[in-house]
Amino acid sequence: MNSTTAFEQEFEQNNDSERVVLSEKEHPILEKDIESEALKVLYRLRDAGYAGYLVGGGVRDLYLGNKPKDFDISTNARPGQLRKLFRNSRTIGRRFRLVQVFFRGNKIIEVSTLRSRSEYDSHEPDKVLPANNTFGTLEEDAYRRDLTINSLFYEIENNTVIDYVGGVQDLTDGIIRIVGEPEQRIIRDPVRILRAIRHAARNGFTIEEKTLEAITKHLEKLDLCPTSRIRDELLKDLRGGTSQAWVGLALQTGVFATLFPFYQELFQHETEGEAVKKELLSLFAALDNIEHNIERVTLEDAMLFAILLFPWALRRFDLLHQELKGQGYHRLSKAIRADLDQLFARRLNIKRAIKDKITTLFVNMSSLQKHRTKDTSKDTWPAWLRRKSYFKDCSRFYALYQESISHEQSADIAHFVEDAPKAKRQEKTERPVGASTSGNAADKPQRGGRRGNNPAFSSDKQGVFGLRTV
Ligand code: ATP
Ligand code: MG
Repeated sequence: MNSTTAFEQEFEQNNDSERVVLSEKEHPILEKDIESEALKVLYRLRDAGYAGYLVGGGVRDLYLGNKPKDFDISTNARPGQLRKLFRNSRTIGRRFRLVQVFFRGNKIIEVSTLRSRSEYDSHEPDKVLPANNTFGTLEEDAYRRDLTINSLFYEIENNTVIDYVGGVQDLTDGIIRIVGEPEQRIIRDPVRILRAIRHAARNGFTIEEKTLEAITKHLEKLDLCPTSRIRDELLKDLRGGTSQAWVGLALQTGVFATLFPFYQELFQHETEGEAVKKELLSLFAALDNIEHNIERVTLEDAMLFAILLFPWALRRFDLLHQELKGQGYHRLSKAIRADLDQLFARRLNIKRAIKDKITTLFVNMSSLQKHRTKDTSKDTWPAWLRRKSYFKDCSRFYALYQESISHEQSADIAHFVEDAPKAKRQEKTERPVGASTSGNAADKPQRGGRRGNNPAFSSDKQGVFGLRTV
């Protein structure tokens, strides 16, 4: 290997890893738990004389007894060879070519050639890397990954798990550890901070000391990441049923205040800061509750961002106690929109339509607060309010807020049930399965594909909260 780049030098310095191979009896992964399409790809590769491995999150989730969201495969076959082998496939990716193999029922298995570096391990993110400079060995492919628990391989010849980085031990001990030298890996790609926190939150794992030190030391590097990448990662953390744990860890590590600096002032006041943190945790607990209880619900991005911003916005604009007569409504909307733009939306590259939706949710909170009935278990909003175009979204958001402060479900929460399949059609962002030893997300039935356009639970008269879904 021609060791010219910093990455290659670092790899050689740290390349004291030992290969650990776990036989079929020494690990919990069963071939029957691997999706049949992924197995087909693995067998086809083997029959053609190539090596094929299940990699990344799929191996991690199977090892933990969770259902993987997707099954990614790595191989020593090159993209061109893969295209010949799988007729129903296409090549994607600008910097690294990846082959998607298509199966019936919109099933896609992604197959990538083993490589020596991550697409993010470059200071020139837009540069297309020459292919022959990036292909690598199994060991290099393990080393370029983010966390040790995401760096395992599973092969079908002898059903073994192959581990170069101590991932099996960390899975067993519940440890999140960045592969290699954490500081350097974070400097090279600060998004790894978010990935470490995600997997700690999802699985109830502990972040290892050196990794945690590197995270807290280099928090501000998150500002260097492309805004759209941070936004997409963030949405993954808020979806999936373990958002409360994520917020808890993001607050503890300082990630939260780094991503959302407008909260910093609130956190500086001891009592107020604690109250704000508590509110955030309760709001996200209410969100997780919806995710756990309503099958296949996907909340809109605007709703998720509104939850995140609410404790701050509540104080900044006194959202629950506004008398909005005449120009008042317009003035408040304008003020909210201006702040959203300046403090939040630009930082995360958020579309105008989403900003407008968040503004609508916030500006109408005082109206809902004024007209709510004491008994929130009944759906008794005034008819004129129900007719408003904003009512549907605002009443759901208000219900979530109510649940977060009272821990009782309001009747409007049940309306999220009606939204489930529709919201799914609107959203393009993936919802992670969530996982875990601690979370209930994994208990949620994962069915392959939606049944037509029928609302989830539509035939269930009692609804998921024991409330009627009117
Ligand atoms: P999920 O269940 O959310 O899909 P995942 O671990 O599969 O979790 P992906 O985003 O699908 O996450 O990434 C697939 C694999 O690619 C990871 O398991 C990891 O090995 C590797 N990976 C992803 N992002 C990075 C990164 N920033 N740096 C290095 N490796 C990464
Ligand atoms: Mg994945």
